[in-house]
Amino acid sequence: MLRMPIFSWLVLTLFSAMTSGQNLSQTQLSSLDNSVAPWLSLEAEQPRLYVGLSPRELVLSMSPKAKADLNPSLRDLGKKALQSLLRELKLKSAEFEMWPQYDDWGAHTWVIARYRETETHQWIWLNETHHQPLSNGGPADRPRAILPRHLNPNVAQDAALIFDQTPKDLYQQPLFSTVLWMNHDLTQVTHPWLSPSRMEGFKPPANTRAIALPAPSRFNGSAKTFVTKASQQEINWPNEIQFTKHLDRPFQPENKPSRAVYFRKEFSKKYRDDVSRFSGALPVHDPDHGKLIDFEKLSSGDPQNHLLALVRYLKERYEAIGFGKTPNSTIEIQSYEWRTIPQANLVLKIKGSNPSALNRPIILSDHIDKAISEDIFEATAERITTPGADDNATATSTLLRASEIFKARYQLKPPPHDIWIVHFTGEEFPANCAGARHFVSQLLRSKQDIGANINIDMIGHHTPHDKIFQLNPGFSLRSKEIALEALRVAKALGNQWVPMIRSSESKTSYYTQTDSMIFDIAGYPTLLINEHINLTRRLNPHYHQSTDLPRFIDFDYAEFQAKVAITTAIRLAESN
Ligand SMILES: [Zn+2]
Repeated sequence: MLRMPIFSWLVLTLFSAMTSGQNLSQTQLSSLDNSVAPWLSLEAEQPRLYVGLSPRELVLSMSPKAKADLNPSLRDLGKKALQSLLRELKLKSAEFEMWPQYDDWGAHTWVIARYRETETHQWIWLNETHHQPLSNGGPADRPRAILPRHLNPNVAQDAALIFDQTPKDLYQQPLFSTVLWMNHDLTQVTHPWLSPSRMEGFKPPANTRAIALPAPSRFNGSAKTFVTKASQQEINWPNEIQFTKHLDRPFQPENKPSRAVYFRKEFSKKYRDDVSRFSGALPVHDPDHGKLIDFEKLSSGDPQNHLLALVRYLKERYEAIGFGKTPNSTIEIQSYEWRTIPQANLVLKIKGSNPSALNRPIILSDHIDKAISEDIFEATAERITTPGADDNATATSTLLRASEIFKARYQLKPPPHDIWIVHFTGEEFPANCAGARHFVSQLLRSKQDIGANINIDMIGHHTPHDKIFQLNPGFSLRSKEIALEALRVAKALGNQWVPMIRSSESKTSYYTQTDSMIFDIAGYPTLLINEHINLTRRLNPHYHQSTDLPRFIDFDYAEFQAKVAITTAIRLAESN
C-alpha cells in the first residue's frame, strides 16, 4: 500500500488526461513528468536525480532547500557540452533545456534535451546522432552528456531497443520508461515517461515517434528542468542552481570506546566452509525438501531460480544460531515480485535499547543472487549463473559470522541502535538491484531512518602483491564519515592489507555498481567495502565468469575485510 491520499491519484489521472497530446513549443518538459512520489517505488528503468531534498529528507518532512544543490563536476561538464553544441549548431548563443541525471555507470551528468535561439523562438529537439559533444567512451572515459535518442518504433531494431527484456547485451535494459511517445513531427507528446509496469501490452499509436531520454530531476519532490543561457564566452547558470562541494570536514569521533571485538579461532574455518557452501562446492539442502539447492539457478531473472530456497536455508541457519525466537530479534522474509517472478530478501533485526526516536538501525548487507557467467553466455548464449565464490559468497559468509558475534556480544545487553543483517536478492543484471530497491522503497514508505548501510560485495580476490582493499562511501557527508570510521577500524585491527577510501566523485569508486547505490540515491548513508576493483581497471579475471571459484579466493584478505565490516557495524551501533 502506498501511504498517499487518494486525492493525489485523482490529480494524477486528471493531469495525465490533460497532458495527452500536449503541445511542447512553450512548456517545459518537467510538466510532462506526472509521476507522484516516484521515490516510493524506486525503479531501475526510470532513474531520477534528487537535487533538493533527498527521498529520505522528503519522507522525514525536512524543510525544503532554497536552491538546487548540484555536484560541482556538473559545472565544467555542462560548460564543455553546451559550448561544443553551440559550435556544432553554428550559433553564437542559445538557451538549452537540461537537467542532471546519472549516467550508465552512476556518475552525475547532464541530460540536454532541446535548444532555442532566444525566448521567443520555438524549442528544437537535440539528437544524439547529430551531436556528440563529448566522447562516447566506456566507463573510464566518462561522464558524457546525454542527448535525446530519436527512435522509430516501426523499425524492428528500434522497437527491440525499447521493448526487448532479454537483449544480446547482458547488461542492457529496455528503454521503454525513458521514452516520450510523440506525434509524427515531434510537436506533441502522447505518452510521457510511462512506468515500467506499463510496458507489458503497450501498443504504440500508429505513426508514432519515440524520443528516449531519462526523466527530469526532482527538486524538493517536484519534477524539474533548467533553462540555461549559453554563449562561447559564458554560461549563465539559472539562479536556482548552486554548485556545492561537500567538503570533507575532519571526522569527529562520536563513539565512546567500545569493548574490544573478539574473533574466535573458529572464525576462519567457518568463514571458509560457508564460502564453499554458498558457491556450490559444499552441499546445501533446501530445508523444505532436503534436495540440494541448485547453484546454477541463482539469477533473479530465471523463473525457475532457487533463491527462495536459499533464503529459507539462511533463515534456518540464523534460527540455529538462536535468532528469531526471542523478543530481541526477528527474522522476516521480505517477499516481492520482479517481472512477475517471486523474489525475497531476508531481514534479521537485532533490537537496540534506544527509544525509537533515537534508534537509527545499522545495516550490514550483501546480495545472494549470482551473475550470469559471461564466458558461458558468449560461447553458448545460455544464461547459467556463476559459482559466485567471490561475488558474493565472501559477503554472505561475513554476515553469518557477524550474526554469531552479535549473538554472543548482545546476549545480556543489547546495543543502543538496532543492527539489521539484510540479504538482498536481485542485485545482478537483469534485475539490477531489485531487492535493494524494494527494501529502500519500504524504508521510505514507512518513514524509517537508518544510521548506516554497510554493504559487502566481493572481498576475496586481488592480484599478486596487491594489498589494497576499498572503502567506497556514498555521496553524502555522513557516508564519508562512516568510511573514515571504517578506516580507523582497519588501522586499529592492523595487518598487511591496505585500506583505501574511494571518494564517490572518483572513477576508482565502485559503489555505483552495487546495492549501495540505491541507498545513496535515496539519501541514506552508505558504505561499500570491496576488493581492489573499479571502473577504470577490472582487476579480477574471474569477475562474472564460470571460474569464480573458492580456489581463487585469498581468505586472509577476505576475512580481514569481513572483520573490518563487522567491527565498524558494532562501533556505529554502540555510538550515540
Ligand atoms: Zn556482486
